[in-house]
Amino acid sequence: MARVFNFSAGPAALPETVLKQAQAELLDFHGSGMSILEMSHRSVTYQRVIDHAEESLRSLMDISDEYAVLFFQGGATLQFAGVPMNLMYSGRAGYYISGHFAQAAWREASKYGEAVVLGSSEKSSFDHIPALGEGLDPVFSPVTWCAPDIDQSLDYAYICENNTIFGTEWHELPNTGAVPLVSDVSSCFLAKPVQMERYGLLYAGAQKNAGPAGVTMVIVRRDLISDGPALDYCPSYLDYGTQDAKGSMLNTPNTFGIYLCGLVFDWIAEQGGLAAMEKRNRSKASLIYGALDDSSLFRGTARPDSRSMMNATFTTGDAALDAEFVVEAEKHGLVGLKGHRLVGGMRASLYNAVPYEAVEELASFMQSFEADHSSACCSDRRSL
Ligand SMILES: *Cc1c(COP(=O)(O)O)cnc(C)c1O
Repeated sequence: MARVFNFSAGPAALPETVLKQAQAELLDFHGSGMSILEMSHRSVTYQRVIDHAEESLRSLMDISDEYAVLFFQGGATLQFAGVPMNLMYSGRAGYYISGHFAQAAWREASKYGEAVVLGSSEKSSFDHIPALGEGLDPVFSPVTWCAPDIDQSLDYAYICENNTIFGTEWHELPNTGAVPLVSDVSSCFLAKPVQMERYGLLYAGAQKNAGPAGVTMVIVRRDLISDGPALDYCPSYLDYGTQDAKGSMLNTPNTFGIYLCGLVFDWIAEQGGLAAMEKRNRSKASLIYGALDDSSLFRGTARPDSRSMMNATFTTGDAALDAEFVVEAEKHGLVGLKGHRLVGGMRASLYNAVPYEAVEELASFMQSFEADHSSACCSDRRSL
């Protein structure tokens, strides 16, 4: 079967050239006479693979030695615990609740210390990025947190930079002053250039935009972890300082996953790096949002000022028609468009490996679906 256009939110599309390279070297890795899947992580050959992946990532993102680059297993979800266990030295951190994953991270952090809410858009179904102090019950939220600046005694301030499920994105990072900014960038990792110096820590599960499931990159300022983890019961595996000292190999890492991430990093560099990715991603996003704004059947669910460049969420407003759209789209080779089970509707994930032509196909399919369904029946349905 020909390869489809894959709009899945994760695991997601990977560059075909990367898959072909992995296929070509699967049986005999670089003349070793064995597959990389069979190789010791302590071998010289594998050490070169993980070193190369780290160097390639450092060069793409222009990461200095002030930061550690770590590879974990356990998904982004494990880092919901890893962040407070390592960084909650005084026992209090701030969280912006911008969606499901931010909320899950906040809940997890509440097990280990005081996780205060800096702002929340839950009351409007997470259709936008919350402002500082937004959505807080005045009884429970001391005014210091609603002031123009974030309380400077917090251990860190946490955001989920791109809300994969709700299709929203922080277009400007919050000003946290001297408080380290911690960001879950799982679904916008490597989508555009980053200003590393704005972050104390960022982390990303690979399966959205950087590789296969089973690898999570944590990039953390070394001075924040030099005193050891904040909580003494932090598992050794999750201790960022220890993992830094051990080159992410305290135990057996996801050898194949890290290798594949390295191939993706190289692919991005060959395409022109993060600036080239951003250019392509912006043109894909403007094509799809333009189609939504021009449509009288579909509408985007995120507030325009918060729209994500990576995950475009939309609906017809009619669950049955949404389901029909997803089924019909699949017949046209456009797959992975079903929205997250928490919100329904549709979602087109426009990660780096999704080509512009895929989005053109999607936009034109949306037009023809709309033409087929713009009879009296449906305009009536919409006005109900
Ligand atoms: C997918 C995702 C997660 C969860 O990732 P897992 O690897 O399944 O734990 C967390 N945060 C964001 C922003 C995501 O997109």
